[in-house]
Amino acid sequence: MRVLISSFFHNVRFYRSLRFRIFLIVLFVGFIPALTMRFIMIRGYETRAMNQKISEVTNQSSIVAAHLARTDYFSDTSDSIINDELIQMSNLYDGRILVINDDFLIIKDTYGKSQGKYIVSSEVISCMNGSRNMSSTDEENRYLEITVPIVDEATGNVCGALVASASTDGIHDNKDVLSRRSRVVQVILTILVVFIALALSSTLLRPFDKVIKAVDSVKEGFDPGVDSIEVPDYTETRDIMDAFHHLMSRMAEVDASREEFVANVSHELKTPLASMKVLSDSLIQGGDAVDAETYREFMQDIAAEVDRENKIINNLLSLVKMGGGNEDGIELKLQELSPILQQLIKTLTPLAEQSEVELLYEEKMPVEAEVDETKLSLAIMNLMENAIKYNKKGGWVKVTLDSDVQFAVITVSDSGMGIPEESINKIYDRFYRVDKSHSREIGGTGLGLAITRNAILLHRGAIKASSIVGEGTTFTVRIPLRKDI
Ligand code: ADP
Repeated sequence: MRVLISSFFHNVRFYRSLRFRIFLIVLFVGFIPALTMRFIMIRGYETRAMNQKISEVTNQSSIVAAHLARTDYFSDTSDSIINDELIQMSNLYDGRILVINDDFLIIKDTYGKSQGKYIVSSEVISCMNGSRNMSSTDEENRYLEITVPIVDEATGNVCGALVASASTDGIHDNKDVLSRRSRVVQVILTILVVFIALALSSTLLRPFDKVIKAVDSVKEGFDPGVDSIEVPDYTETRDIMDAFHHLMSRMAEVDASREEFVANVSHELKTPLASMKVLSDSLIQGGDAVDAETYREFMQDIAAEVDRENKIINNLLSLVKMGGGNEDGIELKLQELSPILQQLIKTLTPLAEQSEVELLYEEKMPVEAEVDETKLSLAIMNLMENAIKYNKKGGWVKVTLDSDVQFAVITVSDSGMGIPEESINKIYDRFYRVDKSHSREIGGTGLGLAITRNAILLHRGAIKASSIVGEGTTFTVRIPLRKDI
């Protein structure tokens, strides 16, 4: 059953709507006080009227009881003045009067029915014993009963009791009228509250409709710099629209950077193709006149361009693989870092010798860290390659391994040409080169540092470069020793 009910509410969309909830809240807030007020009012009237009636009947009964004590009614019940007084009083309250003597014998009943009978009700007994006034009400039969002691003034003894019952019809009739009238008021109030709830729930939420409309109206060509949709009605709607603009700006940025990337990729890929085209065209045009030596030379140049094209494509693939900071593809393993760095030194020694650059390695302390060997090797290899490539004859490249409490610290320093200060933050951008032609000449693709940075970010590490033009550059890489740090 519960499942059925909850599935019903889950499926009914209006139940989840804020508009419906506001409607309900306003309805309850308006309806419950009206209902309580009605209840309190009627109850208040009834209690007050009842108390008033009780005190009135009690007073009257006490007066008559005093009168009875003075006239010695117990020995002679034929006293017409007293009897008239009793009849009058019972008529006044539309009730009945009983006079009881100290033997619990009813010596007078204004109805005449119970005269001569004994009465042993608890009220009469406690009234006789404690000489207290007693009162009780009977809601169902709509009457109240007052029992007062009849006290002999001379001796102070209780010599009997007077029981007066009075109809409460008047009070109940008034209560019914009051209840009917207040019900009418309540129905009117409820209708009013429903209207107010409907009006409030729809007007309060109108700005949110505007937000939905505004967001819906956004077409493909939304330009966050130029187009602007404002819903300033509430702080919340303004915040939503601000967040929306922010999102659109981010998307525009991503779009622009993707377009720029595609443009750069096309340009980079076209350059080697253009060279190959020129080289092959000149061979074709030269025909038989081209000697074997020139042929070989041109073909070598074409092969170099093919290598270059290959390198760009491979770099792009590594970049795409590591892009977006997706850590799923990373395989971390706790391992010594020194062997990895030493292997890199070994691999790059021929290149360093060819460039007449000295390669140095210093392990300040053995360091074990959780790393993906392939990706870290690629990152540090790019740094070392750059340090050799952008160096001078007779220069040096030094790689150090160290660690502090939480991080492995690898530095790659060189005695090369350095990086100008204004470029230091841009060198990680894809295809950025400080000196385009020089970089191309020495086989750069402009992607190396972008790959390096991505690989290090995948390790949740950081990279920083400091450089003095003409003196050299130092790249510092910090990698957390454990992934969870
Ligand atoms: P490239 O393939 O052109 O080397 P990178 O992304 O590896 O591309 O480097 C970007 C640019 O940063 C390089 O073109 C070069 O101008 C500069 N650079 C990188 N490392 C060094 C270095 N050690 N010394 C001087 N300049 C460097």
